[in-house]
Amino acid sequence: MADTTPQKAAPVKSDTALREEALVQFWKEHNIFERSIDRKSAKGEFVFYDGPPFATGMPHMGHLLASAYKDAVGRYKTMQGYRVPRRWGWDCHGLPIESLVEKKLGLKTKKDIEVLGVEKFNAEARASVQQFVSDWEWYVDRIGRWVDFKNSYKTMDNSYMESVWWALKRLHEKKLLYEGNRVLMYCTHCETPLAKAEIQMDNTYKDVIDEAVTVKFKVIDPKKHGLPENTYILAWTTTPWTLPGNVGLAVGAEIDYVVVKQGAEQLVLAKELLEKMLGSEAAITASVKGSDLVGIKYEPLYTVAAVEAHTGKRHEVLAADFVTTTDGTGVVHTAVMYGEDDYNLGKKEGLPMVQLLTQNGHYNEKAPELVRDMFYKKGGRYVLEDLEKRGRVFKIEKYNHSYPHCYRCGTALIYNAVSSWFLGINSIPEGGTKTIKERMLEENKEINWVPDHLRDGRFNNILEGAPDWTISRNRFWATPLPIWRCTGCPEKSVIGSVDELRARAKQPVPEGQDLHRPYIDSFTLTCEHCQGEMKRTPEVVDCWVESGSMPFAELSYPRENKDVFEKRFPGDFITEYIAQTRTWFYYTHAMGVMVFDTKAFKNVTSTGTILAADGEKMSKSKGNYTDPKINLDLYGADALRFYLMGSPVMQAEDTNFRDEDLKETHSRIINMLWNSYTFYSMYAKEVPQGIDVTKSPNVLDRWIISRLSQVITEVTTSLDGYETTPACRSIRDFVEDYSTWYLRRSRERIKEEGDDKAYALATMRTTLLTLSKVIAPIMPFIAESMYQGLKGNEESVHLDAWPQPLATVSVPLHADMDTARAVTSAALEARSAAKIKVRQPLALLTVSGEHSLAKSFDKESLLEIIAAEVNVKEIVMGDTSGQLVALDTIVTPELQAEGYLRDLIRAVQDFRKQKGLNPNDVPTLTLTVTGESKVFAERYRDELIKATHLTGIAFADTAETTITVGAMSFGLSL
Ligand SMILES: [Zn+2]
Ligand SMILES: [Zn+2]
Repeated sequence: MADTTPQKAAPVKSDTALREEALVQFWKEHNIFERSIDRKSAKGEFVFYDGPPFATGMPHMGHLLASAYKDAVGRYKTMQGYRVPRRWGWDCHGLPIESLVEKKLGLKTKKDIEVLGVEKFNAEARASVQQFVSDWEWYVDRIGRWVDFKNSYKTMDNSYMESVWWALKRLHEKKLLYEGNRVLMYCTHCETPLAKAEIQMDNTYKDVIDEAVTVKFKVIDPKKHGLPENTYILAWTTTPWTLPGNVGLAVGAEIDYVVVKQGAEQLVLAKELLEKMLGSEAAITASVKGSDLVGIKYEPLYTVAAVEAHTGKRHEVLAADFVTTTDGTGVVHTAVMYGEDDYNLGKKEGLPMVQLLTQNGHYNEKAPELVRDMFYKKGGRYVLEDLEKRGRVFKIEKYNHSYPHCYRCGTALIYNAVSSWFLGINSIPEGGTKTIKERMLEENKEINWVPDHLRDGRFNNILEGAPDWTISRNRFWATPLPIWRCTGCPEKSVIGSVDELRARAKQPVPEGQDLHRPYIDSFTLTCEHCQGEMKRTPEVVDCWVESGSMPFAELSYPRENKDVFEKRFPGDFITEYIAQTRTWFYYTHAMGVMVFDTKAFKNVTSTGTILAADGEKMSKSKGNYTDPKINLDLYGADALRFYLMGSPVMQAEDTNFRDEDLKETHSRIINMLWNSYTFYSMYAKEVPQGIDVTKSPNVLDRWIISRLSQVITEVTTSLDGYETTPACRSIRDFVEDYSTWYLRRSRERIKEEGDDKAYALATMRTTLLTLSKVIAPIMPFIAESMYQGLKGNEESVHLDAWPQPLATVSVPLHADMDTARAVTSAALEARSAAKIKVRQPLALLTVSGEHSLAKSFDKESLLEIIAAEVNVKEIVMGDTSGQLVALDTIVTPELQAEGYLRDLIRAVQDFRKQKGLNPNDVPTLTLTVTGESKVFAERYRDELIKATHLTGIAFADTAETTITVGAMSFGLSL
């Protein structure tokens, strides 16, 4: 892959990143994940199915999101008392890896692969599968995802493929597996049909400019139909290469058509499109209904012998309900092999079905000589040129439209009638009463979708519109289709296991026989009907059959693990991004309903797509996003996890990833938490034992414990519903409440010995320890660091139990505290408006307005908290009219002196800090005073010494530094 992004210099790892990386090692060395699974679980197993990623590409931001979320749910359920085995899987087969190998070996066509040999090609594919494993493992570890990586299942394992065979045989027995012809999207490079879902999933539609041509079809014997001589029917197409395959013209029976004279010719087209095609001046000769045109014969543009030999209808006007007047002429050129509607109309009307293309998109020997052996695109140009020369082209225009391309090789797809194997989504299985689709719709009603609108919205719509599933691919590297057909009679056999193959094959099937092509192709069977030879049909299976079989195939069911599977099906939980509603979610659901007549999963969460900051797809070549490794080194995995899981991407909405938002998460959540924790750590040794924090008389403690209990309830509800966004909001608010209010107002409390200090420290410990458990699923690293530092009971927070609320949530207390905070910020605003700094004490704050504070049980305590924060001597409650607060801003000489005192204390404290002293150090610190400052210092001697640990106040001429407060100056020496 060409990477033109200039490599950014690797940043120095942040402390956060280093701390997290050490924890990855700790978890590994102490087998914490394994122990969380091996221990007894009170609630039994929580079944998680991991959708296997393609083993052929590097992990990207979408994978990191999925990993983070899968991990969060797993950790949460573990703490709740479940056993949550998590096993990694690899999707190893299919076009993604085949096209990788083609590029690597320089193979241009499917023929090149056959020349090289399927054996060599597949050996190369097998070898390429594991090349990105170490990259994946690095990301999985670094994001903090716990998953059994070493014991991963692989869709290319024999035992896995055998389970897929078993399922196909079962579906054959249920009469759901059939062979049929249908027009499918087809890649001429890969030479295989593709499912529409595959194209829609990755949205490989591209805007292209094609030539749209309006062609004149000459009516035979117009008089017979009451039409003038020289009448031509106009039909329009954007795929001129299909014109040699034209066998009919479709009109709408109820649509109004007109005949218009142009020169010597009479032209037929829909009335509604007349002006668009011919302008407003056109002279109408006659008006007819579409139904009047039906049966008119016209001269074919080209002679195709196989079509001429057809005895039924051909080259005539037919009625069809898909004809519209939105585009073109209101007459649809019908080439039955190259359009879905065309094909169905051809079946209904008995039109000739003659394929003019080879498998690699060249015209075959049946095609007109003009284009024979040419690639279809080139042929299309020859057709246009030829028709122009023959005067059959009415108009050529540029036509801009969105056109499907192969999701692997990028080749423009065509619609092509091909023979393929299908699973009958629209069939009623043997012994059933409803179609598979009806059962899928019913079972879907029982599935819990997050977000819930997907169940009756998008997924339901996909189910309703689901076609039969084309499961065969004309390729090499995938589970071979286990169908053998007789060379002498129409008999077919579907083989469901290796044992069955061994019993039926003419050749011995050795133990451990690789089931891949080409080896499997060498086994022949004897026909049970005519004793003739049976050979395997050459196709392989669509890789979505394999990934949709994951619930049973990863267990090699039914050959092994019967009891395990029965306990693990349907699964409790799956999650992937929104495009998987068409693919993995859909196909897993389909396999569940078809094979077991039940849904395959009970809960499913769909995330949105993560886009770059500019709203475009994240693109390496555009360089519009930062390498996740760099962000992980800067901000760590917790910040990334919290940012993603708190964003709208968790509600299946597309979300632009912004580095600055990640940075903000790091500073607002991770740093704030960490600072709260390290502040506590300084006092950890002084924390008294045996204090019941719920009994604290201090309103701040009661409030934070109540808030904590609320957060536990909210996060539990949120995660029980598989939703992380409300959980993140709740955690974010709490971290802020704790840090910017509880801790801020409690700092002073731990400076003085006594009961209040004991309660404050005990409350901090309880709060932080409990919080570490609440945040553990979403931010497993910082949770672990805090938990271990706070000496939790287990070796790891992830082995501890999910916390229960500590106290009843007091809603009135929360409201009162909110009011106190609102009053505080209003008062501080008033201060700032009056340009009076907070250190300057003021006399009076009057609090008014309609709120509960006046009647609050905690009124006195809350007013004290406000007074301390706002720095006022007294608060009085005013009447309820007017503003919330009125601040007395008069600074009396007395108040001013107190302000000076605060300034002086602050300056001395700053000096202590500069000197590197801890709060409790008592060095020889001297304040030098003269004149006016001496009077001041003497007056406030006790307060000064207590607040700053001064050892003396002295007269002197010199000092180390000078502090100016108001008009006074002080010296300071250490
Ligand atoms: Zn292709
Ligand atoms: Zn036979």
